[in-house]
Amino acid sequence: MTKVTRPRTADERRRRLQQILDALDARYPNVTCALHHKDAWQLLVATILSAQCTDERVNMVTPGLFKKYPTMRDLAAADEREVAMDIRSTGFFNNKAKNIVGAARKLITEFKGEIPRDIGKLLTVPGAARKTANVVLGTAFGIPSGVVVDTHVARISARLDLTKETNPVKIEQDLIKILPQEKWIMFSHQVIHFGREICVARKPKCGECPIEPLCYAKDKVLL
Ligand code: SF4
Repeated sequence: MTKVTRPRTADERRRRLQQILDALDARYPNVTCALHHKDAWQLLVATILSAQCTDERVNMVTPGLFKKYPTMRDLAAADEREVAMDIRSTGFFNNKAKNIVGAARKLITEFKGEIPRDIGKLLTVPGAARKTANVVLGTAFGIPSGVVVDTHVARISARLDLTKETNPVKIEQDLIKILPQEKWIMFSHQVIHFGREICVARKPKCGECPIEPLCYAKDKVLL
C-alpha cells in the first residue's frame, strides 16, 4: 500500500485530478447509463423510478410499463393509482407515479411532447430534479448540462477529496469547477461503475483500485 500525501499546490491538485481521470478512462473506456431505454422519454421515466431503487429492479419493471403504456400520451392519460401499482416494486410508488404521469402531461401540454434540451426547462417537469435532468440530457442527447451526483459520485468525490460538501447540488458545483466540461457526462458514468465494482461503500477494494496510488481517504482499507 502506497503512502500517499495530500497535494499542496493548485498545480499538484490539477495533476492529480488528471491522473484520476486517466485511470478512470483506462479502466472504464466505454461505460454508459445502466438504465435500459429506447429514447429520452423512457430514460426520464426510468430515472424517476431509480430513486432509492436499484437499476436492476428498474430494468425489470420498465419493459412491462412501456408495453402497457407505449407512448407518453398513454401515460398522460393513465390513472395515477393504477400506474402506482404497476411500478410498486420500485418503492415510493405513489410519488413516482404522480411524477411520471405529471411529467407526461406537462411535456405534452407545454413542450409538444418533446423532452426539452435545456436544463432550465427540463427542471420544470415533475420528477426532474438536477440529477434526473443531467442524466437525461447527458445520456440521451450528449448535452453536458452538469455532473450527475448520485450516491456513488457523492461518496467517491469525498474519498478522493474533490469536494468537502455533502449536499449533492453543492458537490455538483464543486465538480463542475474542477472537471473539464467534456468530462462531465463520462466522469459520472465511470465513477458509478467504479463505485459499484471497487470503491464500494463498505470495505472498498483498495487492493484492486487503479486510483489507490492517488488516494488518501481516511476510510481507505489498508492491506
Ligand atoms: S484506494 Fe480505496 S478508498 Fe481510495 S479510491 Fe480506491 S477503492 Fe476507493
